[in-house]
Amino acid sequence: MSFSWPIFITVLLLGVVQLAVGVVFGRCLPLGSGTSRPADDRQHSASLEELAARLRQVVARLSREVGTHHNKIGQANRELSSAGRQSAEELADLALLTVSQVLKLNRQLQSRLAEADSALQRQAAQIELHMAEARTDPLTRLPNRRALDDHLLRLLGQRRGRQQSFSLLMIDVDHFKQLNDRYGHLAGDQALRHIADALRATVGDADLVARVGGEEFAIVAANCDLGAGCQLAEVVRKAVCESQYQFGGQTLPLSVSVGLATAQPDDESVTLIRRADQALYCAKRNGRNCGYYHDGQACRRIPPSGQSVDDLDELCQRLRNRLAALCAQQ
Ligand code: GH3
Ligand code: MG
Ligand code: MG
Repeated sequence: MSFSWPIFITVLLLGVVQLAVGVVFGRCLPLGSGTSRPADDRQHSASLEELAARLRQVVARLSREVGTHHNKIGQANRELSSAGRQSAEELADLALLTVSQVLKLNRQLQSRLAEADSALQRQAAQIELHMAEARTDPLTRLPNRRALDDHLLRLLGQRRGRQQSFSLLMIDVDHFKQLNDRYGHLAGDQALRHIADALRATVGDADLVARVGGEEFAIVAANCDLGAGCQLAEVVRKAVCESQYQFGGQTLPLSVSVGLATAQPDDESVTLIRRADQALYCAKRNGRNCGYYHDGQACRRIPPSGQSVDDLDELCQRLRNRLAALCAQQ
């Protein structure tokens, strides 16, 4: 019998062990990658630090187990290697004993690895939960500003070189402070939840509705050009206006103003958001409970439902012509 085979078995088993450890870490490592960024929310970042500490403990325990396993196998290997002057039968017995020891050690390590794997998976699920919480508005359960920013970055990245466009609607509740002042903060909170539900109901699965500030929401409408964006803005505005918000046994009036911008080829998030904000500002300044869009040059009123942007542009042109004609007569 050659003495090289126990060494070969040992090396092979260590290889298997390392592979198993690799699989365990491989399954869990994607957690730390992706679009995560340092949480600015203190509570979440404290929880994440706590989870990271627990994760470090699991990894340290795992590495101790693997170290112990390695030592024990090394010991078995040494015993087998030092048995050079024994008879072939004694050697065979010793080899069998060593193999059964190694198998036992392997089973032990396997069960330790399985424990560590499930511990790592539990931590992984908790970290994922915290990361999702960090991107969710607790009052309405809508995605928050951070989630919106990531979504816009992703869409702007994806659409380079493609024709499809998407639209951003910034939506602000009208006179919301008055509602709080008259009916109390609870009425305000419930109104925000009610509006969130109404907005959610107006969009498709590919669209994103987010709460981006106190009484401000945003919709990112996929595959949505300016014409479709104007229609959606009207649908959204009417949905809120007609949504029948009940509080304290009465129906309280609610309305929103909407600012729309459609992504241009050279847009960054900041430029797209700025245009939609400018359009929203116009809607506020021009009476509220209405929508404006930014066409890249200026803000224009979104025509009431049933009227297209082209109709309105045509109407404006006719008015300008009429005005010019009147001026010319004088
Ligand atoms: P405008 O039509 O110009 O938008 O007027 P507004 O009253 O809606 O706007 P303003 O910025 O003056 O007031 C916003 C109010 O929204 C003030 C703030 O107390 C309230 N608010 C912000 N976040 C919350 C919230 O989570 N819950 C409640 N109940 N109120 C909130
Ligand atoms: Mg506001
Ligand atoms: Mg407001």
